[in-house]
Amino acid sequence: MSLAGKTAIVTGSNSGIGLGVAHELARAGADVVINSFTDRPEDHALAAEIAAEHGVSVRYIAADMSDAGACRALITKAGACDILVNNAGIQYVAGIDEFPVDKWNAILAINLSSAFHTTAAALPLMRANGWGRVINVASAHGLTASPYKSAYVAAKHGVVGLSKVTALETAGEGITCNAVCPGYVLTPLVEAQIPDQMKKHNMDRDTVIKEVMLERQPSRQFATTAQIGGTVAFLCSAAADQITGTTISVDGGWTAL
Ligand code: NAD
Repeated sequence: MSLAGKTAIVTGSNSGIGLGVAHELARAGADVVINSFTDRPEDHALAAEIAAEHGVSVRYIAADMSDAGACRALITKAGACDILVNNAGIQYVAGIDEFPVDKWNAILAINLSSAFHTTAAALPLMRANGWGRVINVASAHGLTASPYKSAYVAAKHGVVGLSKVTALETAGEGITCNAVCPGYVLTPLVEAQIPDQMKKHNMDRDTVIKEVMLERQPSRQFATTAQIGGTVAFLCSAAADQITGTTISVDGGWTAL
């Protein structure tokens, strides 16, 4: 599969899953725009690193995905958008009766509304070319729930719904839209929690991963950022031309339970 000549925009991609997706799309030959809300020299250096590794053009464009105007401006600034991966996301954990309103609003804005705004701005560009891919990084929490994650679960279920509507509105136009639903993925953020969990439960690394962190993931193995990126790249391939309006779980069996 070659994505040469395609431009991919990946939101929230200076770390974790988004960075893994950027690498896999670049490996497949796409030019990539990576993004976060910061505008530091290291963000631009990261773009140069990915470009050098895969021999494609990679640009970093700062845009705060909690801001509707900035979401739309990201697409305009990129100048092209064949592949849009809505990945930016944050989490906050608290009971509904204690959930801070500002956290609720931020999670809904970054995890859900940003995908609406970027998609709205990108669809005219895709329609002009008669080809496009919108891939929304949802979660196992787009299909199931956990307590204390009201905003996250609501936003991710919303992302799955938005993906279906986007698919219906673009069906037959060479454009597809799907949601990728990861279970637990080994990102730097998750890696950083392991030592604390080991201490708290007095367990070694393997045991705390299997028995505590991956309790709901039947494989008892993390998914990797490269596996999520590979799934996104597959959805960009010709084999996926008729895959639209659905979810693909990469969750070690979580949602089969
Ligand atoms: P992460 O914290 O490593 O990455 C989140 C990215 O979003 C970062 O690049 C961050 O800079 C960016 N971001 C945060 N706020 C932003 C804002 N206002 N504007 C622009 N960018 C912003 O976390 P991750 O685990 O890689 O998560 C990426 C996506 O995958 C999220 O949507 C998350 O919900 C989803 N996800 C993660 C897991 C997991 O286990 N890690 C599981 C399922 C789904």
